[in-house]
Amino acid sequence: MILPIYAYGHPVLKKVASNIDKSYPNLSVLLANMWDTMYNAHGVGLAAPQIGLDIRLFIVDTLQVLEEEKPGEGIKMAFINAKIVEESGEEWSYEEGCLSIPYVRGDVSRQEQVTIEYFDESFTKHTKTFSGLNARVIQHEYDHIQGILFTEKLKPLKKKLVQKKLDNIKKGNIKADYKIKFVV
Ligand SMILES: [Zn+2]
Repeated sequence: MILPIYAYGHPVLKKVASNIDKSYPNLSVLLANMWDTMYNAHGVGLAAPQIGLDIRLFIVDTLQVLEEEKPGEGIKMAFINAKIVEESGEEWSYEEGCLSIPYVRGDVSRQEQVTIEYFDESFTKHTKTFSGLNARVIQHEYDHIQGILFTEKLKPLKKKLVQKKLDNIKKGNIKADYKIKFVV
């Protein structure tokens, strides 16, 4: 089932999300709905706050984008109760976007590698290191469960340039080609 994506300005996007446990109701249904919602909006990642839930859960699929360039390097995974253990490597800049912030894109600088502790959908614990685009998407989604949006990480001038667009999203003055839930 496709769920509405909560737009910029919604308070749930600014909350630090909470851990869940194995008994979280209908987790597999929730995950299935999140995959449907992400693919419908042509995203490579989606975090629970973006569908209105302040829980530490996000999904990532980079298979779609890495398939041609770097076959075998893409991932399709769910991350539950994730905690970044370490970020390392050079900072590199990449143009990011966000399903909660339609039509806004901008360069964000992040470190190349991320080591993350998380549970998978069957609640098995893992600690893994990711790099490149996989790390990038994980860092972006991880920020969501920390209540941080990529627009907060733009350079000051770029921030000024996108402010009007952000205000318009907040007021519900935009259209997206997927279901979106505005604050107003
Ligand atoms: Zn996002």
